[in-house]
Amino acid sequence: MPKKRRYKFNPETLAYELHKIPIKARFSKGFIIFLLSLVTSLGYYFGYTKYLNLDTPKMLALLRTSDELSSKLELMNKRFNQANSSLLSLQMRDNYIYRPIFGMEEIPQDIRDAGFGGIDRYSYLKSFDRSGILSRTAINMDVLYKKAFIQSKSFDDVVLLAKNADEMSLCVPAIPPVNISASRIRYSSSFGYRPDPFNGQVRMHSGVDLSGPVGEPIFATGNGRVVEVGFDFFGYGNFVIVDHGFGYKTRYAHLKTSMVAMGRVVKRGEQIAIMGNTGRSKGPHVHYEVIYRNRPVNPLNYYNRDIEPEDFKALISPRG
Ligand SMILES: [Zn+2]
Repeated sequence: MPKKRRYKFNPETLAYELHKIPIKARFSKGFIIFLLSLVTSLGYYFGYTKYLNLDTPKMLALLRTSDELSSKLELMNKRFNQANSSLLSLQMRDNYIYRPIFGMEEIPQDIRDAGFGGIDRYSYLKSFDRSGILSRTAINMDVLYKKAFIQSKSFDDVVLLAKNADEMSLCVPAIPPVNISASRIRYSSSFGYRPDPFNGQVRMHSGVDLSGPVGEPIFATGNGRVVEVGFDFFGYGNFVIVDHGFGYKTRYAHLKTSMVAMGRVVKRGEQIAIMGNTGRSKGPHVHYEVIYRNRPVNPLNYYNRDIEPEDFKALISPRG
């Protein structure tokens, strides 16, 4: 387009001359036009979105996506809550049924909650997330995974013990070390504090004493392995210690002689020694100890005192 020229009459020269508009004036004119068009389009935009309350198509699409996501998250949260309540009932059964069956202690709730007892983490995340849905879902997922992990570890332990339960019942001391149904056997001293038979001073007696004739057979009271065969002149005399596993050991003392060597695997009811009167002893008897987790416990809790002769016969096994 050719540039529009303006001419102006000059009375001094009596001629028409080209009229020049200063650059500054031209620029400000263009700027005013630009500003006017900007104001008009902004007016349209605000009028459209604010006063008519309409969204642009792009905004509409975003809002739709956001709504879909929100309802999906809401659904996920519902499922998390369902999973969480199933997990809670599993935890209860684990704590109050499965673990106690095998003598395991219950897992404290704060450990089960995996350190999510407080609300701090939640409110922190929430500050980035106005609706709160996203952070709620993220935290729910975290908590559920950790709780489920702890629960599965606990079940692993229970399964392991359950698998070992049969073996455990064979190993834990469960019969008397001598035939207490025979009239020649006498229960001569109990577990606990008693006056010492030699000097009368009250001392802890760490086992039970069962008196009988020298030569009376002495039996292993549970499956295990012989871990010590020794002689203690001022104390136990000839003695045998059997390790049964699961925290249990038994000691048989004042023996005439032991019939097993170190390392021998023994079965419950297998004869391991002969009653005697060796060491610090005032007459033929067996001093029998049950040691659980390195502490002597009362052996009377580990066998039936009213055992019938035929029942005892069934408990002992021929030495093999
Ligand atoms: Zn004793």
